[in-house]
Amino acid sequence: MYEFLMTPEQIEHRDNAREFAKSIDRQYLLDMDADKIKYPKEFIKEAARRGLVGIRVPKKYGGRGMHWADEVISLEEIAVNGYIMSCTYGVTGCLVPEAIMFSGTEEQKMKYLPGICKAEIFAAECLTEPRGGSDFFGATTTAVQDGDDFILNGQKRFIVGGEGADIFLVYAKTNPEGGPQNSMTCFIVERDMGVKTEYQYGLMGCRGGGTARLVFDNVRVPKENVLGGVNNAYPTFYQMMIPERFGTAAMTIGAARPALEIATDYTMKRKAFGKTINRFQGVSFKIAEAAIKLDACRSVIYTTAQAVDSGKCEPEYVRRLCSQSKKFVTESCWDVANLSMQCMGGIGYTDVYPIEKIVRDLRLATIWTGTSEIMLNIVQHEWYTERREELKNLSKRNSECDCINAFADGEKIYE
Ligand SMILES: Cc1cc2nc3c(=O)[nH]c(=O)nc-3n(C[C@H](O)[C@H](O)[C@H](O)COP(=O)(O)OP(=O)(O)OC[C@H]3O[C@@H](n4cnc5c(N)ncnc54)[C@H](O)[C@@H]3O)c2cc1C
Repeated sequence: MYEFLMTPEQIEHRDNAREFAKSIDRQYLLDMDADKIKYPKEFIKEAARRGLVGIRVPKKYGGRGMHWADEVISLEEIAVNGYIMSCTYGVTGCLVPEAIMFSGTEEQKMKYLPGICKAEIFAAECLTEPRGGSDFFGATTTAVQDGDDFILNGQKRFIVGGEGADIFLVYAKTNPEGGPQNSMTCFIVERDMGVKTEYQYGLMGCRGGGTARLVFDNVRVPKENVLGGVNNAYPTFYQMMIPERFGTAAMTIGAARPALEIATDYTMKRKAFGKTINRFQGVSFKIAEAAIKLDACRSVIYTTAQAVDSGKCEPEYVRRLCSQSKKFVTESCWDVANLSMQCMGGIGYTDVYPIEKIVRDLRLATIWTGTSEIMLNIVQHEWYTERREELKNLSKRNSECDCINAFADGEKIYE
């Protein structure tokens, strides 16, 4: 599927990721869902051994030096093993490296990226606080300079890899009086500096990803671990919207795909009223609906990847594309999982088939890395800005007057 858009190298890359996904023992997945495995280190290590961690990291730093168009292919394949597999894999191998590649010094890149790509170092990203996640710039975690160090205090919650990761990308207030552009600093905090993992949540799904609360109690971080400059977290945060929103959208497709495959197979075998249930349009149309949604998601993801890779688009436009990808894909994939479950009848609601787990896992997709509501906020903002620009430039036909009574007296009243 979609091979017509792939180069031979991308097909090879896809097959490599697909083989890896096939090789994972089912017991490993069950143990993660049962919280017996806290964080899938072995899984990520094997992915690294197969050259699947650090896809876009330059070769010089131990990565593959590929592009988003390649990364989305492997993200989809790896997520077939469960949404949390791709979340942990994506956070350590795609999200955190993006920040280090974009804002890191040469020393920081050399120190962390090769280890991440070999899965000798596992990484996590810490934005959300008990106080809230959507209002990111209202963060209350603080860092105060003390000689050559910063003293970090505060808490972050729901951190994937909170249990299991070795380094944490932590955003903290260093200039509480400043605005969004100059109040926060991003730090690379090593676990050994004194990070405490205090609490593991009982999660509805997505278990086994080490999702935990982190406590920073007078943690001393050397100034060499400031990422991107003091009071200058904003550009890093802005850039991270790409892997966070777009990357997580790409993986959601892979997490939803098995639900549709399982339901399709079931409807070709299960009989009611003397025929297989795929002969009832009430069933087969749901499968068709889900197939359309999944393919539409892929179209959105593949074109957005091209937009990002091209480097030709304005950052604001990229921000809109990534945000709308996140909203559209995560909500469509949620529909795919539910349509699939519906086609299975009662057995879909049991653990005889993995669809109930897929539904539990996928519920996270519209919440984490920015909720659907926050995505809408961004999209409406960028869209209105674009439209105002168009109106200013008179760059397109204005269709408003293409109707009989366009100039009717006293009708176009706006106040
Ligand atoms: C399993 C799991 C894993 C996670 N992993 C990570 C991680 O690795 N790192 C990390 O930093 N975070 C992580 N998160 C946190 C996640 O990103 C946040 O939960 C999310 O951003 C929402 O923040 P919140 O929970 O504080 O909700 P709030 O910000 O309190 O929002 C609550 C509700 O209000 C709505 N809302 C808030 N503001 C507005 C507004 N302006 N307009 C309209 N609606 C609004 C939201 O959409 C939401 O529906 C994870 C969460 C979970 C559950």
